[in-house]
Amino acid sequence: MKTQVLIIGGGFAGVSTAQRLEKQGIRTSLVDRKDYFEVTYAVLRDVADPKKNQGNSRKYYNDILTGTFTQSGVKELRKTSALLENGETVTFEKVVIASGSRYPSLPLAKSSKAMSLAARTDELNEYHNNLKGASTVLVIGGGVVGVELAGEIAYAMPKAQVTLAHKSGTLLDGFKEKAQQKALKQLTEAGVTVEFNTFYQKKGDVYIDVNSNKSISPDAIYTAIGTLPNNDFLKQNFNHTLNDKGLVMVGGNLAVKGESNFYAIGDIADVGEAKLGYLALEQGKYLANVIAKDFIGKTYKAYKRNPFMALVPTGQKTGVVQFPFMVSTWKALVNIKQKDLFISKTYNEFSK
Ligand SMILES: Cc1cc2nc3c(=O)[nH]c(=O)nc-3n(C[C@H](O)[C@H](O)[C@H](O)COP(=O)(O)OP(=O)(O)OC[C@H]3O[C@@H](n4cnc5c(N)ncnc54)[C@H](O)[C@@H]3O)c2cc1C
Repeated sequence: MKTQVLIIGGGFAGVSTAQRLEKQGIRTSLVDRKDYFEVTYAVLRDVADPKKNQGNSRKYYNDILTGTFTQSGVKELRKTSALLENGETVTFEKVVIASGSRYPSLPLAKSSKAMSLAARTDELNEYHNNLKGASTVLVIGGGVVGVELAGEIAYAMPKAQVTLAHKSGTLLDGFKEKAQQKALKQLTEAGVTVEFNTFYQKKGDVYIDVNSNKSISPDAIYTAIGTLPNNDFLKQNFNHTLNDKGLVMVGGNLAVKGESNFYAIGDIADVGEAKLGYLALEQGKYLANVIAKDFIGKTYKAYKRNPFMALVPTGQKTGVVQFPFMVSTWKALVNIKQKDLFISKTYNEFSK
C-alpha cells in the first residue's frame, strides 16, 4: 500500500488531520486498531447512564473519513514505511504520529479489548450492568476523570454511596483554587464523600487506606490515575524521538525533531499544551496546513499554544468551568457541554 500521508491513530488528532488534508486534495491513509471513533468525553456518562447519549458518541471510521481507512495496528515505523500488525506494509511520503494514550488503571475510559463498535457497545453495557447493582462505589483519583466519574455515578444512582479518594489535599490538581473548591462543593452536595490524603490498597475484598487505616468494601471500584503514551511502534527505530515521559518531541511546526517527514500531535506528542481532545483536534487542523504547504515547498507559521481551559461536569446538571481569566459554575456556560458532552460539536468539526 502507498499513500501521501500515513496517519497512525484515529483519535481527535488523527481524524482531524486526515479530514483537513483530504479537503486540500492530499491523499491520506489512516490506520487504527479499532473500527470506530469514540468521543471520550461521553464515555463516563455512557457507563453511568447509557440512555442519555444512546451510543451517539461512537461512529464507524468508514462513516466519517473521506480518505482510506485500514483496521490494523502499526507494529513498527520505519523511515518511509510502516509495518502493520496484519502483515501489510504501507509506504508514505509523510507520517503523522497520532497514536494517543491508553488508560491502564481505568480500561472503561479507553478500551484495550473492544476493537469493533459492536464489541465496545457490549463492553460498556457490561460496565453499566456491573455498576447498576452497586450500593457502595469507590473512585480512586481526584483528577478530571475521577471527579467527573464520581459526579456522574452520584447523579445517575442517587441511592449509591459514592466515595472519591484522592492522594493530595485538593481535587483537580493544577486547576485554580477556586475551581478546586467549587468542584468539591458540587460533589459534596451531590452526596459524594470526598476523602483527601488517602492511599487505598487492596487486601482481599477490602480496600484499606494506609494513611488512616480506614477500610471500605465497595461493590464497584474505579481507579482513575492517569494515562500512558502509545509509543511501542517507535521504540525499535525512533526511540531517540521520545522524551523521558515517552512523548514524541516536536518543534514549532509540530514536526518530529530530527525526522523531517514525521509529525506528531495529540496525547502522544510533547506539544506543550494540556492533554485534551479539543486541543488534539485543533493541532490536527493546524498540522494539515503545515503539511499542505510543505508539499508545495512553502513553510507555515509556528503553532500557537492555547491557554488552559476546561469544563468539568460533576453530574448531569452541574460543572466547573475554568478560563484563563475566570472560574464559573454558571448554568448557561455549563450547559454548553451538558447538552451532549460535545458529541455533535466534535463530529461537526470532522465534517467541516
Ligand atoms: C474519560 C475521559 C474523558 C475525557 N474528557 C475530555 C473532555 O471532556 N475534553 C477534552 O478536551 N478531553 C477529554 N479527555 C482527553 C481526551 O480524550 C484526549 O486528550 C484525547 O483522546 C487525545 O486524542 P488523541 O487523538 O491524541 O489520542 P487518542 O484519543 O488516544 O487516540 C489514539 C488512537 O490511536 C490508536 N492507536 C494507538 N496505537 C496505535 C497503533 N500502534 N497503531 C494504530 N493505531 C493505534 C488508538 O486505537 C486510538 O484510536 C478525556 C479523556 C478521558 C479518558
